[in-house]
Amino acid sequence: MNTFAVLKTENYDDETLYTAVKKHLEIHNIKDEVSKNARVLLKPNLVTDKEAAFSVTTNPRFVFAVIRCLYDIGVKNITVADCPGGALLVFSQIQEVYEKTGYSFLADYAYLNTDFTGIDVNSPDGFVNKKFNIIKAVSEADYIINLPKFKTHNITGITAGVKNLFGTVPGLQKPAFHAKYPLAKDFSNMLVELAAVVKPNFTIVDAVDIMEGNGPTNGKKRYLGLTFSGKDVFTLDSFIAKTLGIAQETVPTITAAKAKGFVDEKYLTAGDTDFATDTPILLSELTRADTAGGKIAARISTLLDKALDAVFMQYPQMNDKCILCKKCIVTCPKKALSIREKRVVLDRKKCIGCLCCDEVCTNGAVDIRKKLKTR
Ligand code: SF4
Ligand code: SF4
Repeated sequence: MNTFAVLKTENYDDETLYTAVKKHLEIHNIKDEVSKNARVLLKPNLVTDKEAAFSVTTNPRFVFAVIRCLYDIGVKNITVADCPGGALLVFSQIQEVYEKTGYSFLADYAYLNTDFTGIDVNSPDGFVNKKFNIIKAVSEADYIINLPKFKTHNITGITAGVKNLFGTVPGLQKPAFHAKYPLAKDFSNMLVELAAVVKPNFTIVDAVDIMEGNGPTNGKKRYLGLTFSGKDVFTLDSFIAKTLGIAQETVPTITAAKAKGFVDEKYLTAGDTDFATDTPILLSELTRADTAGGKIAARISTLLDKALDAVFMQYPQMNDKCILCKKCIVTCPKKALSIREKRVVLDRKKCIGCLCCDEVCTNGAVDIRKKLKTR
């Protein structure tokens, strides 16, 4: 039977993190399943080039703690790889991203990936997506450790184990997926199929500082003081949602994983399972979950959301914080944005409401509005 762990992890001090990560590895007997010669891939969240203090990316000290623990068990062939979101690598070199996110020092201990060549990997029969193109370092790894930052997300409700794996898809293929699957349900199904193909061996989630509200890049930082772990990435997300009092129905990646039979409701728990949040996690305005009102209220809320989603769609409106960097323009999969009279303007007829523009904007310059669907 699977085991899922939650550990109180007070802060980002090296020794605190090392102790927590070591315990996570011990709980799951990781030492017994990674060979010393294995090529181990660490997959953090480097969605954008913001420093750790913003709580958008996986904290580099957390990644360092994982590397230290792997060294302890004799594993030294370690690669750190994630492909940032949207058009970021069109504007920056990956070394700049490592620099700004505080990852550069890790180069003394592991290889920081610089190759974003995609390799086609087939999906199992029965999947909508018959193959995925994923970055070479991921497809070549013997053992994958998924290291998400826990955040709320304006399309998938939360980003934890499953959503983090979207970063294995190279560059602008990511916005293309948003264009292909404009509905949260279909997009989430794709993420679940991708996660089943990448198949991380183990996941440890950085939830010491999290992001809540309008995540994944423009929400608010909040202290939670936790780390989570498990081998089955689908059930782990369900376990995390349960632990944090987030209604499962409001997280479409969990719904999609359950529909495929990937979530095993029977499991063991370990660690500080008595944890309880006094203040519910604030989800994105767009997912509008009811985390406080219990299951019935959450179901009513979800049904209401579905009805509203059938009528309304979200669209971006750029505010005065815009510095005209053009990242959103290059990222937009529908070419719905352009600059006119020194402002980013939207062609609403083209917009599909995927919010890739919001994800790639690191200036908080995208306000999200709702409008009646016209098609
Ligand atoms: S909205 Fe954000 S990403 Fe787009 S041009 Fe302005 S600052 Fe850049
Ligand atoms: S402008 Fe519309 S279609 Fe383009 S990235 Fe933003 S939400 Fe998506």
